Amino acid sequence: MRLVFVGPPGAGKGTQAENIIFRYKPVHLSTGDMLRAARDAKTEVGLQADKYMSSGQLVPDDVIIGIISERLKNDDCKQGFLLDGFPRTIAQAEALDQMLSDAKTPLDTVLELKVPDGELRKRLAGRGRKDDAPEAVEERIRGYHTITSPLLEYYGKKGLLKTIDGLGAVTDIFERIIKVLDSCR
Ligand code: AMP
Repeated sequence: MRLVFVGPPGAGKGTQAENIIFRYKPVHLSTGDMLRAARDAKTEVGLQADKYMSSGQLVPDDVIIGIISERLKNDDCKQGFLLDGFPRTIAQAEALDQMLSDAKTPLDTVLELKVPDGELRKRLAGRGRKDDAPEAVEERIRGYHTITSPLLEYYGKKGLLKTIDGLGAVTDIFERIIKVLDSCR
């Protein structure tokens, strides 16, 4: 199973990604987690990325595409993967398409977790991560609508997009995801 998980910050992607990993066993590829690990390890890429992350901006495409293209070459990805937080721009989606078509391993499904902005602000206010400061939150929500949401049309046209209502109890949301993923196996 090769999946992309798309949704605004605070939609609950992290929580539902854990549920998906547990049930379907794809490798979890979270670019946010990779960048935070690189930042904490004080690697050159990590320190560069931190400048963007702490203000809620996207890390440049070439940096993130380089990280993912290396990671996808790893053998563990053959069992399938869940891309969480990547792609976030059309350029990233095109680069991903190229990598996957070269490897003859196309995507199966793109899951969109949909949550209204008002609810996102409420959820992020209670989370306390470094990039959850109010200005950074607004920048990330704005960035999602302007830069990332065109991906929905991009994948919709390819017939890959499945939209999940991200409101309600975590278990109910996961039931919705299961329904979609079981039907496209
Ligand atoms: P996340 O945990 O997915 O919300 O990512 C945290 C931060 O890492 C984002 O606000 C961006 O600064 C950066 N980041 C993660 N994934 C990407 C990506 N695909 N493209 C650009 N920046 C990213």
